[in-house]
Amino acid sequence: MIRINENYLKLQASYLFSEIARRVAAFQEEFPDREIIKLGIGDVTRALPQACIKAFHSAVDEMAKDETFRGYGPEQGYAFLREKITTHDYLSRGADITPEEIFISDGAKCDTGNFQEIFAPDITVAIPDPVYPVYLDTNVMAGRTGLSENGRYAGIQYLEGTRANGFIPELPDKPVDLIYLCYPNNPTGATITKQQLQAWVNFAREHKALILYDAAYEVFIREENLPKTIFEIDGAQEVAIEFRSFSKTAGFTGTRCAFTVVPKACLAYTSKGESQSVHDLWLRRHTTKFNGVSYPVQKAAEAIYSPAGASEVKALVQYYMHNASLIRNEMSALGYDCIGGENSPYIWVDGRMDSWEFFDRLLRQAGVVCTPGAGFGKCGEGYIRISAFNSYENVQNAMQRISQSLSA
Ligand code: PLP
Repeated sequence: MIRINENYLKLQASYLFSEIARRVAAFQEEFPDREIIKLGIGDVTRALPQACIKAFHSAVDEMAKDETFRGYGPEQGYAFLREKITTHDYLSRGADITPEEIFISDGAKCDTGNFQEIFAPDITVAIPDPVYPVYLDTNVMAGRTGLSENGRYAGIQYLEGTRANGFIPELPDKPVDLIYLCYPNNPTGATITKQQLQAWVNFAREHKALILYDAAYEVFIREENLPKTIFEIDGAQEVAIEFRSFSKTAGFTGTRCAFTVVPKACLAYTSKGESQSVHDLWLRRHTTKFNGVSYPVQKAAEAIYSPAGASEVKALVQYYMHNASLIRNEMSALGYDCIGGENSPYIWVDGRMDSWEFFDRLLRQAGVVCTPGAGFGKCGEGYIRISAFNSYENVQNAMQRISQSLSA
C-alpha cells in the first residue's frame, strides 16, 4: 500500500492569496464597474531590461546552429555568470567569495525551501514571525514540527518581529541549530544593520548553528552603510548561506534565475560531532536533483552586470522605489505607522485594527488590494503589506483613493 508523508497533513491551508482572490472576485461581482488596483502580490510589472533581452535573443540564436548549440549545462551554472556574480556582488563589497561557492538555480524559493534537506530531521529551527511562508512550510513537510495550534507549530522556535523591536527579532534565549533570516524583509520591509547582523553571526558561531540568509531584495537597499550581503560581516563565511534572486533585481519572476552562495568554510556536524563541508553536501544534492538553468536565461542574467544592464537595473529599482516613497509618505500623512519602503519595495502599515478588516476597508472604500499581515504569521496581525510593484500611475491613483476614503 502506497503511503503518504503525513507531515503534509500538518500544513495549514495556504489560504492567504486564495482568500484575497475570493474577496476581490466577490467585490467585483457586486460592483462590476469599480476598477481595482492591485498592490497585494509581490510580483514585478515592468519588462526585462533591454540588455537582458538582447543577450537572451543572441543566446537563442546560438542554440539554432550546430556549431554553437549547447546541451546539458553545468548543474552549478555557467562559469561566465558565476564569475560576474563574484566580482560585482561580492568582491566589490569586500566579501571574499569565489565562483566555486556560487550555485545558479531557477529560484530563491526553491533554494530556501530545499536547503533544509541536507540537515538532520531533529535539529532545532528558528524562524521569524512574520515571515515568507516557504521556510516554515518546508520544515513542516520535512517533519521537524508537531501540529499547528493557534497559528504556531509545535517544535519551531519563533523569532518574533514586533513594533517594539522594529521587526528585527531578538536572539533566541537558548541554542538553536538552523536560523532563517531575511533582509530586506518580506513582508515587513525592515532592514538589518551590520551590528545587528554581527550579533546573529556571533550567536551562530557560538552554538555551531547555521544561518540561512535570504537577500532576495538586496538590490533595493539604498543606504550605503547597510549590509548588502551577510558576507560583509566578520566570521559569516563559516556560519551562513546566502540566497539571492534576479526576480526582483531585474524582473526575472517569469524568466527564472537565482543563486545561492555556499562558502567552502561552512561546516555542519554528524551525530558524533565530526565536521562536514556544507558546500560538498549541497553540491552533491544540487548535481543529483537539479539540471541547471537554461543557457539563454543565464546569458540574460549575465547581461545585468554589463554597463548598459546595470544602468537599466538601476532605473528599474528607482522606478519601484519612487512608488514605495509615495506609498509610505501618503500612509504616514494619514497617520499610520509605517516601516519599510525606504530600502525595500514593501511598506508594512500598522492598521490599528484586524488585518482582514483593514484589507476589506481598503478594497470596499478605495478599490485597492493589499495583503493582510496576519497571512504571514501571528505577529503580522493588525498590519497590512502594500507592495510598490505596479505602475507609478496606478500607485498614484491608489494612494489618492486611499487618502480620500480614509480621511473621509
Ligand atoms: N525570498 C523571498 C523573501 C521572497 O519574497 C521571494 C519571492 O517573493 C523569494 C525568495 C522567491 O524568489 P524567486 O522568484 O527567486 O523564487
